[in-house]
Amino acid sequence: MSNRFVYLDHSATTPVKPEVWEEMAPYFSRKFGNASSVYSIGRESRAAVEAARARVARALGADDKEIYFTSGGTESDNWALKGVAYTNRKKGSHIITTSIEHHAILNICDYLAKEGIEITYLPVDKRGLVDPRQVEEAIRPETILISVMFANNEIGTIQPVKAIGEIARSKGIYFHTDAVQAVGNVRIDVEDMNIDMLSLSAHKFYGPKGTGVLYIRKGVEISSLMQGGSHEMGRRAGTENVPGIVGLGKAIELADSQLEEHNGRLLKMRERLIDGILEQVPFVRFNGDREKRLPGNANITFQYVEGESILLMLDMKGIAVSTGSACASGSLDPSHVLLALGMSHEEAHGSIRMTLGDDNTDEDIDYVLETLPPVIERLRKMSPLYEEIEKGARHV
Ligand code: PLP
Repeated sequence: MSNRFVYLDHSATTPVKPEVWEEMAPYFSRKFGNASSVYSIGRESRAAVEAARARVARALGADDKEIYFTSGGTESDNWALKGVAYTNRKKGSHIITTSIEHHAILNICDYLAKEGIEITYLPVDKRGLVDPRQVEEAIRPETILISVMFANNEIGTIQPVKAIGEIARSKGIYFHTDAVQAVGNVRIDVEDMNIDMLSLSAHKFYGPKGTGVLYIRKGVEISSLMQGGSHEMGRRAGTENVPGIVGLGKAIELADSQLEEHNGRLLKMRERLIDGILEQVPFVRFNGDREKRLPGNANITFQYVEGESILLMLDMKGIAVSTGSACASGSLDPSHVLLALGMSHEEAHGSIRMTLGDDNTDEDIDYVLETLPPVIERLRKMSPLYEEIEKGARHV
């Protein structure tokens, strides 16, 4: 086992930043009041929740009253899709989404399909991009919602959200975007981008796990997912997770103020990592779009090896990477995202995702570039298929 630890899985989750933890800590102990209580420590918690709401609104270009706290990205996605589907049933029963969404969206769509909602899954091109013209062509009189993710969690592709929002707006159809991977990496303005609903999750931008937001534009007709007390302006019942909300507010404010610096650093390290791998390792393929991409995302296919074996060997060297998304790991199915790019099952199985974050350094990249090529070589030496190729017995 190695003494070094290089974490390259920031799309799965990020560490809570010390400044974020510092603001959260008192709300676990001294400032423990229920935000609905009327005495002073309750009012103190209420003020903290509202301050966090204002910070989120500022980062998204929204109004405070359009920000609803939830338990994370999954809940926000459930609320957006089910809420619109149930409330607008009379208007129609067709939803447009894409084939590369996170399972949080795809499995909600499967569920809604069983309830009679028709779902169109748009394809993507070889780089993972949705064509806005295809969105337009998929619209029917009964379409009630278009849900397209802002940035993909596996290959990092950033979608033409503004153009898709414009189409939705011109047709009077609601537009939701799962921006769980985008917040903290892309500057978002819900007004400018014609977004009606947006999901985000604090643990992806150095905030705590189990806290998220659904932005709901004023006037959007959407039913509640959680019935109970009158929390969150009567639309999302349940005692507020005050420390989590405080952490989310601080984390989004920090991310917003450091966005350019964060992106510049990550992009430089990512490019060096990708170029270094492509130069040093034969039979590799870079996945996704090199430009329209999250700054820290590198997704690479290593032919003739299994992604899981690379992951385990890198883990022994102290490097944490992933195959596909964290939520899908443990499943033996190849990534639905890589298959949607037109990749074979075999190639999809040989792919790994490395996602950089603020805690990574140039030395981390040096270490990965030193460690990864011999790992791949060792694994290929164990592969009978690769042995044949090396001998020239089989053409590729
Ligand atoms: N949507 C996307 C694109 C994600 O990457 C994730 C988490 O990986 C989620 C939704 C789910 O978010 P949460 O973990 O907050 O439920």
